[in-house]
Amino acid sequence: MMPQPVAAAPLPVRPDPGPAPGTGTGTGAAERANLLGMARPRLESYFESLGERPFRARQVLKWIHARGVSDFEPMTDLGRALRARLAETAEIRAPAVEAHRTSADGTRKWLLRVDSGNCVEMVFIPEGHRGTLCVSSQVGCPLDCAFCSTGRQGFNRNLSAAEIAGQLWLAVRALDRPVTNVVLMGMGEPLLNFDAVTEAIDLMLEDLAYGLARRRVTLSTAGVVPAIDRLARRAPVSLAVSLHAPDDPLRDRLVPINRKYPIAELLAACRRYAEANPKQKITFEYVMLDGVNDSPEHARALVALLRPVPAKVNLIPFNPFPGAPFRRSPAAAVDGFRERLNAAGIVAITRRPRGDDIDAACGQLAGEVIARAARVRRAALAAVP
Ligand code: SAH
Repeated sequence: MMPQPVAAAPLPVRPDPGPAPGTGTGTGAAERANLLGMARPRLESYFESLGERPFRARQVLKWIHARGVSDFEPMTDLGRALRARLAETAEIRAPAVEAHRTSADGTRKWLLRVDSGNCVEMVFIPEGHRGTLCVSSQVGCPLDCAFCSTGRQGFNRNLSAAEIAGQLWLAVRALDRPVTNVVLMGMGEPLLNFDAVTEAIDLMLEDLAYGLARRRVTLSTAGVVPAIDRLARRAPVSLAVSLHAPDDPLRDRLVPINRKYPIAELLAACRRYAEANPKQKITFEYVMLDGVNDSPEHARALVALLRPVPAKVNLIPFNPFPGAPFRRSPAAAVDGFRERLNAAGIVAITRRPRGDDIDAACGQLAGEVIARAARVRRAALAAVP
């Protein structure tokens, strides 16, 4: 398949639209309740607030997520009066598709508009029977990892639960094959947007909605330690940790949140997570940067570090982006690194770059982000629960 051109012209840079609303687009419609991001408990309260019985939530969950409807008219089991009331007070609103591309390898990428100034990206990666959807959790990212193009874009705001779950809703409608796995590995740090992300996860797991098994939903974090413990209690899905370096001085440089939560604390949290979820290994992501973190000594240090953790390692050959200050490790260095881990009994694989011809590979998602003032970024970082 040949790559298809992006349908839309480059987006004009727009001025900062001012304080971003917590949810939705901030238009007049924002006063309506967007049912798309409500998991069962919140939807039940919503119907109770309308004086309706809570079982309405189950009916509506099925209509919205399992059947993919976007308005209330087809929801015939609700009765005419309730449908009319919902049409006035509620809505089912997903981000709007701004552009869509397909890679030569079948990977698909969507640019999704979430408000007048900002877009995020979502990627679908087909692989045999598996179909993995990579969703974004924030507009931009406040973490500023040295090798990631999303960090370069700056940070604007958290996505709402509707904007996160809405990505899966859109993908299921757009694809002619099932989404079997979801990875929270798109733009943003999901654990800095805990409440919206966990409500969206609830919908992914909900039998009446998408019914995904917990192990088929993976949350990837750069290491927000207190939120890892909260996740273990609230929504223990598969955990991936962006490690990228086996010692603090190097990780401080590559993943700056390491200065707040250094490696020893991060790995202790990983061990607690693994104890709470004994059947699952934790995936450690390790981007391979030529001459930076890819030597045999780094591999040995990584082995020693990961010994006490039920771990598997995904080596990610660095995906370049304009102005990136790194090069991809040569294939021989990646192979040698992987073999050292395997020889020490740590399962390690090399993640094949997917969709890199359309900038859909790990670390290449940039969207369209209006960066906000540094103080907004600092506030997002300080919001760690
Ligand atoms: N903030 C979360 C979610 C983003 S996941 C996290 O850090 O885990 C995106 C994954 O791609 C992370 O493992 C990230 O470290 C990796 N990545 C980022 N930039 C990359 C690049 N240029 N090449 C390869 N992988 C990259």
